[in-house]
Formats: sequence, structure tokens, C-alpha cells
Amino acid sequence: MNHEQSRALYDRALSVMPGGVNSSVRATQPYPFFVERGDGGHVIDADGNRYLDFVMGYGPLLLGHDLPDQVQSAIQRRAAEGPMYGAPTEVEVELAEFVRRHVPSVEMTRFVNSGTEATVSAVRLARGYTGRDKIVVMRGGYHGAQESTLVEGEGDHVHPSSPGIPDEFAAHTLTLPFNDAEAAHSLFAEHGDDIAAVLTEPILGNYGIVHPISGYHETLRELCDDHGSLLVFDEVITGFRVGGLQCAQGKFGVTPDLTTFGKIVGGGFPVGAIGGRSEIVEQFTPAGDVFQSGTFSGHPVTMAAGLETLRYAAENGVYDQINGRAEQLRSGLTDIVADQAPEYTVVGTDSMFKVIFTRNGAGTQAGGPCDAGCVQDPDCDRSEGCPKNGHDIKRAETERWQRLFWPAMQDQGVFLTANQFESQFVSAAHTEDDIEAALEAYKEAL
Ligand SMILES: *Cc1c(COP(=O)(O)O)cnc(C)c1O
Repeated sequence: MNHEQSRALYDRALSVMPGGVNSSVRATQPYPFFVERGDGGHVIDADGNRYLDFVMGYGPLLLGHDLPDQVQSAIQRRAAEGPMYGAPTEVEVELAEFVRRHVPSVEMTRFVNSGTEATVSAVRLARGYTGRDKIVVMRGGYHGAQESTLVEGEGDHVHPSSPGIPDEFAAHTLTLPFNDAEAAHSLFAEHGDDIAAVLTEPILGNYGIVHPISGYHETLRELCDDHGSLLVFDEVITGFRVGGLQCAQGKFGVTPDLTTFGKIVGGGFPVGAIGGRSEIVEQFTPAGDVFQSGTFSGHPVTMAAGLETLRYAAENGVYDQINGRAEQLRSGLTDIVADQAPEYTVVGTDSMFKVIFTRNGAGTQAGGPCDAGCVQDPDCDRSEGCPKNGHDIKRAETERWQRLFWPAMQDQGVFLTANQFESQFVSAAHTEDDIEAALEAYKEAL
């Protein structure tokens, strides 16, 4: 594969952009390929190489790269009518109504411009609503590039995970291991009356893909109710992907107080949103006192792209189609892993998937390979050893993934996220042949 153009572009980029990129995960080794355009389930780079794409923009592209006519024309019409106005438009109301109709916990929505902005605003709202400062996050969870959640450590030793963040931010953040109900009980016993909110992804989607153990979210729900804290589901990845239009909260049957959205709800354009009960969301200005504002918020082109994407998905059975394809991929991967790397674990649900390079001893194969997509089934022979939280994911063979496996996949024309941690996505544009081709590549590279 020739990468001359990408190499030359990266050379230029390094002079004018830090690390040559605008988002750190894109700086793959030794240099990233520069995309020229998308085509269905593929991307084509600056040198004309074609890759089967399972990155899908890191999550926003439910439909792949070729937007259906109704989505395409809605976007172009809005753009042609002048990009934005600083006054409200009907399409914002329509998307908010759509979200309210489908997502169990949502009555009202405030749209913003990124997942990060959504979680920043949700944390401020939870603090403003409860009059408390402390928030709880899961170790290995991700809530964007925000000061209150970029933390590491546990107990009394939580500190910022990046330079540039004063320790005082981390002083208000408590951390929990995901899936550990006992730890949640102890934390609430000690700090419950000071906790404004527990912030968690329904499924850890940025760190492995870790499915919740049955009952875990119910425990968090109860603890929050007992202590007057808010439960916030960060559905930036899972929203309008896991569980379809009802999102992961509908699939799991647990109703959070607030939900953050991003990614898919903007149809491929910059977006975030905070949804929840009116009583809480109306604390945002101008209805309430918690300041929240944004020049681009509710951008008409984004709103049109999100609305038409979700309408198209609803009307065309998109979720059944892509979840079926992803299941085909996960079960193919399970067979390959059983053959070639029995210590590895296939994870994912709906249209998310990943192979975690769990180490020897992580699980035995005594009862044969586990079902495609680890769901923390207590009856599974491997359940003792399969990854249940961020710590378990970190212990996997992350170096092997990054240095050997990922380049081998790229050489075969398959584009995956370059690190072990981020999820891969199947889109509506992926065909059965694409899935077969992907399985062949895994067989070769694993
Ligand atoms: C992607 C993501 C974010 C951050 O969203 P941005 O649009 O990148 O700011 C926050 N939370 C979760 C769960 C995400 O997956």
C-alpha cells in the first residue's frame, strides 16, 4: 500500500497542528492516513487506498458514509437557506419532540455542540439542582474532555489525569470500579448526602465495551433515590445505537434522571444534548438559573441531519439490519478466537463490537467458547475471568493490539480504532460481503 500523499500531508500538518491532528486518537503510528472521501462502509485515503471502515467517525455514523436521499436533501436544503440565525427554528422543536417520544427518561432536551459540552452542562445542572458539589464517575468511563471527569485514582487519592486542571476539580470527584455494587454501597454510606450525581455510561463504550452485570444499574438507581442524588446516563455512544431509538436505558429498563447524548443524534455533524425530566432540565437558563448557552447550539443543519437520520432509521428497520450484521460478525469472531486465540474475549452488543486481548487465565475454555458478545452472564464458564471494569481492560494485551494487530488489519484494508480501548461500529452501509471480508482479515491478523 502506498501512503506517500498521507505522509506528505502529515508532514505539513505537524507544522501547523499539535501532533498533526485535531483530536488525539487520530494520530496513529507512524502517521495516520488522510481521508479523501467516504463510500458506503468504506473510506478512501489520499493515495487512493480503500479501507473497510469500522471506526465510523468514532460512533456518529449510524448509516455509513452514503446518506440516503431524504437525509442528504434535508441537510442541503438547510445549508442552502443560510447556515444559522441566532433565533430558534422549527427543526429544533421537531428533534426535541422526536427524542421525547422515544427515550423513556426524556421530557425536555437542551441541544449543545459536543458530547463534552453535554456532560459539562449535565454536571453543572446536577450540582445546581441538588445544591451539592460531589460527582461520582466510573474508573475507565469517559465523559469527554472536561475538568471534573478527567481524573484518575481512587479513594482519597483522586487527582486530575491531565496537566492544566487544578486539583480542586478532582477534589469534588469520587471514583468507582464499574460493576461493583458493594463499592457503590460503601461510597454512598460515606458520602451519600454530598453526592450531586452519579455519571456512568450504561455500557463502558470507550474502554473495552464492558457490559453491566445484571442489577448493577438498578443498584445505582436505588442508591441515588435513597440519597437524593441524580443518576446521569452518558449515552453519547449508546444513544440511538444500543436499544435502538429507546437507547440503552430502554433496553436495560433503568430510568436515569438526566441523559447526555452526542454522536448519532447529530447525524454526523457536531452535536451534544442533555435530556431529562422537565423539573430538572428547566433549571437551565432562561427557564431557571443554571447558566447554559451556545452560539451554535441547536444548529439547523445538525438538527436536520439528526432528525432525518433517526426518522430514516425508524422507517427502514435500520437497527434490526445492523444489529443482525454485527451479530454475524461477533459470532464469526467468536469462532476465530476459539480457534486461534482462546484467551481473547469477543465483546459488544447491538452494532458495537471488539475483540479484547484478555491474557491467559482471564477465562478458561472448559465449556467451549462463550457466546458472541460478552454480556456478563453468571452461568457462562468464563464469567469469573472476563473483563468487568476498566482495570480488567487495562490488563489486556494493549501493546499487541496497537503494535502488531492494528497495523496488520490496516495492511489488509480494514480500518479499526488504533487502540485497544475504543469500540468498533457496524453501520447500515456494511454488506454481508464486508462482514465476510472483515472476518478473513481477523483470521489472518489474530
Ligand atoms: C464521545 C464521548 C464523549 C465526548 O463527546 P465529544 O463529542 O467527543 O466531546 C462523552 N461521553 C461519551 C460516553 C463518549 O463516547
